[in-house]
Amino acid sequence: MLLTGDKIRLLRSFVQAIKKFNTKFEAFIESHSGSEGMADGLNIVVCIKQVPETTEVEIDPATGRLKREGVAAIINPFDEFAVEEGIRLKEKYGGVVKVVTMGPPMAESALRDAIALGSDEAWLATDRAFAGADTWATSYTLAECIRKMSPYDLIVCGLKTTDGDTGQTGPEIAQHLDMPHICYVNKVLDVSGGKIRVTRMLDDGVETLESPLPALITVTKEINQPRLATLKGRLTAKRAAIRQLTLKDLGVDPKTLGLDGSPTRVVKVFTPPKAAGGEVVEGSPEELSDKILAKLIECKVV
Ligand code: FAD
Repeated sequence: MLLTGDKIRLLRSFVQAIKKFNTKFEAFIESHSGSEGMADGLNIVVCIKQVPETTEVEIDPATGRLKREGVAAIINPFDEFAVEEGIRLKEKYGGVVKVVTMGPPMAESALRDAIALGSDEAWLATDRAFAGADTWATSYTLAECIRKMSPYDLIVCGLKTTDGDTGQTGPEIAQHLDMPHICYVNKVLDVSGGKIRVTRMLDDGVETLESPLPALITVTKEINQPRLATLKGRLTAKRAAIRQLTLKDLGVDPKTLGLDGSPTRVVKVFTPPKAAGGEVVEGSPEELSDKILAKLIECKVV
């Protein structure tokens, strides 16, 4: 049977519609497959970032980016608590801990450190297309990686990093994956029946919350005391396979990643000038209070 032009066009659009439906359906199944996996324990994903070991890094005035060359790199200290909590939950409920980082190839060493502590799998998202990402593009890339790491019941992030320091990445990952999140978690009380119960720190107290799984939590440094790596752990880490994810593996539009996918731009970066001058007043508490009051009146502050 020979098909005419109209029928071919109709068939093509029908096939395309089925393909699109398949992609969406697979994504739906992936993002909702977490609670099913709980029968075999928890599938835990821990997000870690490699950061400069010092807070004294220089900023390139031309690009507004950190100059990372020649600066030793470590796991973001807040992420050590996330890794530890992931491992503790695995030890309590069974399952697997997968660590993921988005960064340059050298970020592999942070993943090996996490394996040495007891994580089971390490995933490195690295591609030139991911460079220059703000928190939105970073969290989108990480969310797409986590889809590829399915199944997942619980995603654990640090509270914030010691370099970027925004605390935005965790909640944004949850948003991209359309799942609930709880920030500032200082204790995981229970994980059962497809739910997680935690306490989280507030300015004026502690709140107990429950969430269905899959869910994302960001953890505070009060949650645990991270362990040190054992020699056996270090040896395992040395040999561990690091799974790489590139733009091609994610299969998403490159315009949604890296600098192109970042709605924010660094307009200017500068170190605020140190306050100079000032006047030191001396004397007894009574003399000081008189002098300071006189100064405040002179400056028309009071
Ligand atoms: P937070 O939101 O404070 O981190 C919270 C938690 O999220 C962490 O504890 C960790 O669990 C997780 N997390 C954060 N980042 C990662 C990660 N990469 N992998 C895995 N888990 C993670 N940075 C560069 O290195 N190179 C650039 O070229 C660059 N360009 C930028 C351009 C713009 C316009 C902006 C605004 C930022 C740029 N950044 C760049 C910084 C980059 O956006 C942040 O490093 C990143 O988004 C994470 O933000 P944060 O450090 O504030 O992490």
